[in-house]
Amino acid sequence: MLSIWTGRAPRLAPAPSATSAAPRRTIVLRKVVKTYSSAAGSFTALKGVDFSVGAGEFVAVIGKSGSGKSTMINMITGIDRPSSGEVIVGDTPIHTLSENAMARWRGKQLGIIFQFFQLLPTLSILENVMLPMDFARAYAPRARRERALALLEQVEMAEQAHKLPSAVSGGQQQRVAIARALANDPPILIADEPTGNLDSRTAEAVFALFDGLVARGKTIVMVTHDNDLARRVTRAVTVADGAIVQDSEVLE
Ligand code: ADP
Ligand code: MG
Repeated sequence: MLSIWTGRAPRLAPAPSATSAAPRRTIVLRKVVKTYSSAAGSFTALKGVDFSVGAGEFVAVIGKSGSGKSTMINMITGIDRPSSGEVIVGDTPIHTLSENAMARWRGKQLGIIFQFFQLLPTLSILENVMLPMDFARAYAPRARRERALALLEQVEMAEQAHKLPSAVSGGQQQRVAIARALANDPPILIADEPTGNLDSRTAEAVFALFDGLVARGKTIVMVTHDNDLARRVTRAVTVADGAIVQDSEVLE
C-alpha cells in the first residue's frame, strides 16, 4: 500500500531466505594459490586456500613462523596478489583491481596494523593519523584534524598528539597505529602480529581496544603468536604449510 501523504512505499519486511541467519561474508578467498619465484626456484606459500569471514567476526590466524599467515593476510589487504584464485573483500574482487584502484579501495575499506607500527617518523602523531584522510579525501580538510584528535582520544593518545612517534613507547605507537587504521572508518581491520613487539600488559591493552571495536561492529582478522589472545576471539584459524588445517568455526 502506498502512503497517500508522502507518496513513499511503506518499508517491506525482508523476504525470508535459507541464508538469512548466516552473517554476510565480507571476506572471501577462493582457491587462493600464491607462488613466489626467485633465483633459487619457486615456492608455493599458499596451496589453494578457501576461507571466508562474516561481518562482525573477530578472527585470529595462528600457526608456526613460515606457515603462510602473512602471505594470506597480504592477499586480503591487496598488499600482494594471488597467483591464482579469487579474493573478494566487501563486494570488491580485489584481485582484479589495478594498483591505483587498489590503493584507493584500500584507503577507504581497510585499516591495516603491522607488528612494527610503520608510523612515518618525520610526521607528528596527529599528522600520522590525518594522513589516510588526506589521501582518501573522505572528510572535509577542516574536519580531519578534529577527527584525528577524537580518534587519538579513543586510544588515550590525544595528549601526545604533537610529539613524533619516536618520543613515545612501542605500546603507545601501536595505539596511534590503531587510530590511524580507523581514520577513514573502514568496516574491516587487518592486523599482522599487532602485539608481537609488545610486552604482555601492553598487548592486553591493544587486544582490549580490538575487542571494543568488534563490539562496535568492526570485522577484525588478526595474526597472532599469542595463544592466550587467540583463545579469546570468536574464531581461530590455524595455518600450516600453506593451508588452513584447523578452523574453530568449522570444528565445533
Ligand atoms: P608467516 O607469516 O606464517 O611467518 P609468511 O607468509 O611470511 O609466513 O611466509 C610463508 C612462506 O613463504 C615462508 O616459507 C617464506 O619464506 C615464504 N615467502 C614469503 N614471502 C616471500 C617472498 N617474497 N619470496 C619468496 N618466498 C617468500
Ligand atoms: Mg608473518
